[in-house]
Amino acid sequence: MSEPIPPPKPKSHGRLSISASLQPRDLMAPQRVKGAWCAKIVTLFPDAFPGTLGLSLTGKAMDMGLWALETIDLRAFGEGRHRNVDDTPAGGGAGMVLRADVVARALDQAMQGAPRDRARWPIVFLSPRGRPFTQAKAHEWAAAEGLTLLCGRFEGVDQRVIDAYGIEEVSLGDFVMTGGEIAAQAMIDATVRLIPGVLGNMASTEEESFSDGLLEHPQFTKPPVWEGREIPPVLLSGNHGEIAKWRRAEAEALTAARRPDLWAAHQARLVPGERKPRK
Ligand code: SAH
Repeated sequence: MSEPIPPPKPKSHGRLSISASLQPRDLMAPQRVKGAWCAKIVTLFPDAFPGTLGLSLTGKAMDMGLWALETIDLRAFGEGRHRNVDDTPAGGGAGMVLRADVVARALDQAMQGAPRDRARWPIVFLSPRGRPFTQAKAHEWAAAEGLTLLCGRFEGVDQRVIDAYGIEEVSLGDFVMTGGEIAAQAMIDATVRLIPGVLGNMASTEEESFSDGLLEHPQFTKPPVWEGREIPPVLLSGNHGEIAKWRRAEAEALTAARRPDLWAAHQARLVPGERKPRK
């Protein structure tokens, strides 16, 4: 006994459009630059957004219309009077699984007007079973036109909808959370800061951790002496060649000590006898 699904909310088109959700931010009528990168999030908890994405640089960039966020409430697509979205796992076992038909209806609404080519607009299921999220993935997504993220809850989602929609499974790391919402925010944050104009200083994304396969060197600022601890004198020397050398050595030592996996990959890219990675 399923009830009719509410029709999609009307959307305005044009160079600038008003977001359809009713977060306080949206009531301030943020303006979206046409064609701006957009994250569409299918979730049982739309109130979790924009969360930290509404703060600081990502929040300002959203206000400026450099990127946009839309939530699609999975509950609205549920079955029956109670809008059920989940059921018991086939084959038995603990917990509940999100239904393929319910998730599919929400995804269909989310993908209205988005390109079908998954390279231009990936659909992602946040999942501890997915490939680990990386800086390279953030770059790939930032170069797309947008992204649809499906946040799981309970034991996850019926496999058939993942297969049928060509959904990519991506993990935030080797641990299990109760839902995909925090993972979605983390990945959107990492992606949005690579969109031109979001960070004041794009150079900082070229020098930071992972950009050349190494972790970043330690950072210091004023005061020059704090509780008896000095800033490494080379950093105050004004000698840019020596500073670069020191930073490089620190980055290499940190990477070798903390991330043998990254260090081995970095070493493998070095031409024997050279210190610069091969292009
Ligand atoms: N039974 C699943 C875990 C379900 S956790 C398993 O063993 O693989 C519930 C939901 O939280 C998942 O569907 C996923 O959307 C989200 N989630 C939990 N941990 C995550 C992680 N490390 N990365 C991304 N999403 C995660």
